[in-house]
Amino acid sequence: MYDLIIVGGGPAGLSAGIYAVRYGMDVLVLEKSIVQGQISLTSVIENYPGFASISGGELMQQFKAHATAAGVKTKAAEVKKVEDGGDRKIISTFDEEIEARAVIIATGAEPRRLGVPGESKFLARGVSYCATCDGPFFAGQEVIVVGGGDSAITEALILSGIVSKVYIVHRREELRSCNLLKERAAEKENIEFIWDTTVEEILGEELVEKVRLKNVKTKETTEMSIDGVFIYVGITPRTGIVDVDKDKVGFIKTSDLMETSARGIYAAGDCRETVLWQVVTAVSDGAVATVSAYKYIMGLE
Ligand code: NAP
Repeated sequence: MYDLIIVGGGPAGLSAGIYAVRYGMDVLVLEKSIVQGQISLTSVIENYPGFASISGGELMQQFKAHATAAGVKTKAAEVKKVEDGGDRKIISTFDEEIEARAVIIATGAEPRRLGVPGESKFLARGVSYCATCDGPFFAGQEVIVVGGGDSAITEALILSGIVSKVYIVHRREELRSCNLLKERAAEKENIEFIWDTTVEEILGEELVEKVRLKNVKTKETTEMSIDGVFIYVGITPRTGIVDVDKDKVGFIKTSDLMETSARGIYAAGDCRETVLWQVVTAVSDGAVATVSAYKYIMGLE
């Protein structure tokens, strides 16, 4: 039986792993795939101390190299279920059952779907959730970015260097993103804002050709020719594997010590209810979760 199983090998999970090794715990990080969640989809990160500007993929590589050098063991496995058997937690993957004294859920989040007709049909045929991955396919073309948060504006700025024109379609008249990003986007000649507007439908034959837009104030609908639709309307947590208290969206509720409603089960990073989903908070969550797990195992709570 392991001391600690960490489900998820993103920034929160690897940070938790590094701390666990340093506490002398027998720990294993289970990671679903080589693509480590939200961070790997982020083109550029400028608010992680020590790295003035780095791509999400590169920062993740640095985390992995650090964790490996520290002695963190990882295994590729998709976890189906985490069950609370009291002193013995049971982690079921598609191949086996693993037992541990404590578990940290660091499964992260994924892009929220817009939920409009055409979104699924045109996935990878003009609809994308990743400018880093798919932006180059739209070189010299016109795209829309849906959303007004940090992700939408960051990725619109990246796209503006690749495509001929970026339209940011936002449902309100004011952006949610931080001021620095707002100012940068306003300075770009090939970024144009379409305010108070929602995307009602994505249309085309084989590939995206048009979107149907609705002005939420006038209720007027229009069709607009476009080559690509990049969607950044928030994140959805991946928390279906564990039965602990969650908010109405599915983010796991925790204490400041990362404790969930089940003793010995902790949550860290984008999958937990918090006020700030950033890399810097994810790595902090991971460290705190491990210290809490250690104290739980040692009976020091
Ligand atoms: P977000 O901050 O929740 O913003 C989502 C945006 O999408 C909002 O502007 C929202 O509009 C809009 N939206 C939501 N549902 C919509 C719908 N059905 N139709 C149209 N628009 C819709 O999400 P995010 O930008 O993905 O960011 C998620 C978290 O990651 C945030 O905490 C963010 O700060 C963080 N993040 C950090 C970095 C970084 O540290 N470098 C980069 C990117 C993101 P309203 O404003 O009207 O609600």
